[in-house]
Amino acid sequence: MKTVPDLCRRRAELMPDAIAFEELATGRIWTFADVDDRAERAAALFETMGLAEGDRVAVLCHNTAVFFEILFACAKARLILVPLNWRQTAAELAPVMIDSGAHLLLADAATADLAAALSSDQIPLLSFADYEERRDEIAPRARPATLWETDRPWYLLYTSGTTGKPKAVIQTAGMAMANAINVQQATGASATDHVLNFLPLFHTAGINLHSLPVFIAGGTSHIIPKFDADAVIALVAEAKLSLFFGVPAIYQAISLHPAFATTDFSAVRHWGCGGAPLPESLIRAFLGRGVVVCNGMGMTETGPTAFFMDRDHAVAKIGSVGKPQLLAEVRLVDIDGHDVPQGAAGEILFRGPGVTPGYFGNPEATEKAFAPGGWLRSGDVGRQDADGYYFIVDRIKDMFISGGENVYPAEVEIVLHAHPAVLEAAVLGVADARWGEVGHAVVMLRPGAEVDIETLRRHARERLAAYKVPKYITLVTDFPRTAAGKVQKHVLRATVATEAS
Ligand code: ATP
Ligand code: MG
Repeated sequence: MKTVPDLCRRRAELMPDAIAFEELATGRIWTFADVDDRAERAAALFETMGLAEGDRVAVLCHNTAVFFEILFACAKARLILVPLNWRQTAAELAPVMIDSGAHLLLADAATADLAAALSSDQIPLLSFADYEERRDEIAPRARPATLWETDRPWYLLYTSGTTGKPKAVIQTAGMAMANAINVQQATGASATDHVLNFLPLFHTAGINLHSLPVFIAGGTSHIIPKFDADAVIALVAEAKLSLFFGVPAIYQAISLHPAFATTDFSAVRHWGCGGAPLPESLIRAFLGRGVVVCNGMGMTETGPTAFFMDRDHAVAKIGSVGKPQLLAEVRLVDIDGHDVPQGAAGEILFRGPGVTPGYFGNPEATEKAFAPGGWLRSGDVGRQDADGYYFIVDRIKDMFISGGENVYPAEVEIVLHAHPAVLEAAVLGVADARWGEVGHAVVMLRPGAEVDIETLRRHARERLAAYKVPKYITLVTDFPRTAAGKVQKHVLRATVATEAS
């Protein structure tokens, strides 16, 4: 197995007194030396508690620097961290505890009740308060092997659960490093950068976009417990941040904030977005405020920045996710696995050091996910333009066939979105006696906007081939969403099925 230096230790040796983390809610600060010292103590504590190589440590918490010490402690003690989704119920998390085979559960004060329900004789609970006390009491071990093995599972991240049950994706130190290099290439992240950490730590962006790449580069992460539009806008205005990463739902929330029109956004050098389709209207709203939002695309399985848009082309190539990043290899293939001609749509395949070795404890799912040659099947359809820029067409799972023609809901959603009254739209293929399947659009209007269904349908008919125009249109006030704000079409489907019939 290949090794790399313990990146946490090395940072502490290179710049001990620089600030790695600042918690804005508590005012606590962690230098790089603090992070390494506490991670060493935490590793010793976990070993004293009987945890051994490969054991899983589950963590339930809002965003905090304590999470990152535990993450680095797991690398040092060769344990596997399993961040849990605190938005879920005990009933939803119980199978995750079994699936991941957790040996210990750590939980912050805000999640104490949920943690109590999940812990048991086999899975003891350690509150953050007790953890911090015991961590400070224990002496760090003289750990000679300050090396991390690049292929060893370091933490597990569950996919967002947009298309079904979340899958536990193995993350390794090698993946984290490849991802950090991709982020640094795309954004120029360095030791002088300041990023805000607020996206959930149980999804890839909270760890692999918000903090690890900036930590590896020697920069500072400012942490708030969770997204709060007021706090984010205030921090941007105070010129505290130089890098900003969000998902479309975050950009949407900022754009609807009363202070959006008056905030000075100029201190942030780079604005990145990814995780779900980024509507053109949103990009334009930010452009109107002098902000160039760079779209990017990745998966839990590949790290968040497999593709990234360069700032110079973000406007000319609106709708594109940019180009494959330095360490991401990409192919577009047809249903038989052959490369498609330039310009044609095909499934996106990924390979490279940023790609996961597989799903934890699920060799069948891992085998299904990879095509020959070690190429990960993304389940997403993309195409490449003549200049090498990629566009995400849609997820294969969401495509439907109406009267023998393929319909990509994302294309219909973009058209509906372009109507001034529409804030968001989700299109599903539903069964139809005549056409096999037809479109059912579920639409959320902008606050205060009004529009009748016939007007929306006419808007779609003027811009789309007849077979793509939704047969049904329903207005809703919100969508079932993942923690990252993505619309869960499989949940939405269950609610519209009854209405359309
Ligand atoms: P699950 O795999 O459980 O259904 P998920 O695929 O949403 O959930 P993630 O790994 O968080 O879980 O998300 C990766 C997916 O998000 C990609 O496969 C792609 O479909 C979508 N995605 C990411 N970035 C973009 C983007 N910029 N534009 C469009 N889609 C994107
Ligand atoms: Mg997925």
